[in-house]
Amino acid sequence: MRRLLLWCARNPWLASHVPRWRFARRAVRRFLPGEGFDAALKAATDFKAQGVGALFTLLGENITDLEDANRVVAHYEEVLAASSGLQAEISVKPTQLGLDIDPAAAFANLERLARAAAKAKSFLWIDMEGSAYTERTVNLYRRMRTAHPDVGIALQAYLHRTVSDVVDLVALKPAIRLVKGAYAEPPTIAFAAKKEVDANYLALCVLMLPEVRHGRLRLVLATHDTDLVAKVWRFGQALGMERKQLEVAMLYGIRTDEQLRLARDGFAVRDLIAYGDAWYAWYLRRLAERPANVWFVARQLFP
Ligand SMILES: Cc1cc2nc3c(=O)[nH]c(=O)nc-3n(C[C@H](O)[C@H](O)[C@H](O)COP(=O)(O)OP(=O)(O)OC[C@H]3O[C@@H](n4cnc5c(N)ncnc54)[C@H](O)[C@@H]3O)c2cc1C
Repeated sequence: MRRLLLWCARNPWLASHVPRWRFARRAVRRFLPGEGFDAALKAATDFKAQGVGALFTLLGENITDLEDANRVVAHYEEVLAASSGLQAEISVKPTQLGLDIDPAAAFANLERLARAAAKAKSFLWIDMEGSAYTERTVNLYRRMRTAHPDVGIALQAYLHRTVSDVVDLVALKPAIRLVKGAYAEPPTIAFAAKKEVDANYLALCVLMLPEVRHGRLRLVLATHDTDLVAKVWRFGQALGMERKQLEVAMLYGIRTDEQLRLARDGFAVRDLIAYGDAWYAWYLRRLAERPANVWFVARQLFP
């Protein structure tokens, strides 16, 4: 089921038709407060009142016209200005900034965003996409990090290479958002079994926690797996870490009760709020993460 859903995520015919189907638009509302930024801003304001920070992401990937990338950058500049009181951060995909078309332009766009984020005292996160982009994204981050302190990268625990990426990046005092990984990757480069991915996730955290403890690395556990978060925290406690040093991020609409509980318990929690109309591939990846969600979609056929 996971493989089928991830195949659907890449299918151009489905990508152009499904977003027009009313029941699909109804279903996607579970993971998006709305398509416009206003709805995202309102959700972030509500979360802030409950001690949960926000991470905004305008949906979109693999753009084919650099003008679209320009519009994305201009949009985030407005977002950063409009959300200054919220201490919200932003997260962007390199292919949404033109990586497929012109890597130099993508880098220049990232720099514009990093400057805007620094001016707003915010933070820029670089999402990690499928493995065709891993090397280029890590290289983009390495170049960005040498000039901009407030920039982080998402790394995927399902990839075999991630441990060496972490080791290579540590000298840069990086910010790493550790995720399990959302794409279909072959077993030659990625752990296939969930047990192995979870074990690697924990091992990577154990490797990074001493750096976090001494303020040399910003680590965000981007996962809804609260058992795994609890295990990581046990290692953090053994190292003498404070709760607010352990950062957790989850997606809007998923395990909200756990996000609020972790924030009440004193951990630093952020909710990633996605918005925009280019939700198709992103939404299919959310279904693939938990195929039981497909029943929720099916129920929208009979509202
Ligand atoms: C803040 C954030 C940023 C991310 N950024 C990236 C990125 O840049 N690149 C990338 O490849 N991936 C990214 N991801 C996705 C990530 O790779 C996983 O695919 C996703 O988080 C599901 O794995 P999990 O860690 O939650 O653990 P799992 O073991 O899959 O899930 C743990 C539990 O969480 C719940 N859960 C998980 N997913 C869902 C869902 N979709 N619907 C309902 N319940 C669910 C279930 O109860 C499940 O039992 C991001 C995830 C988060 C939270």
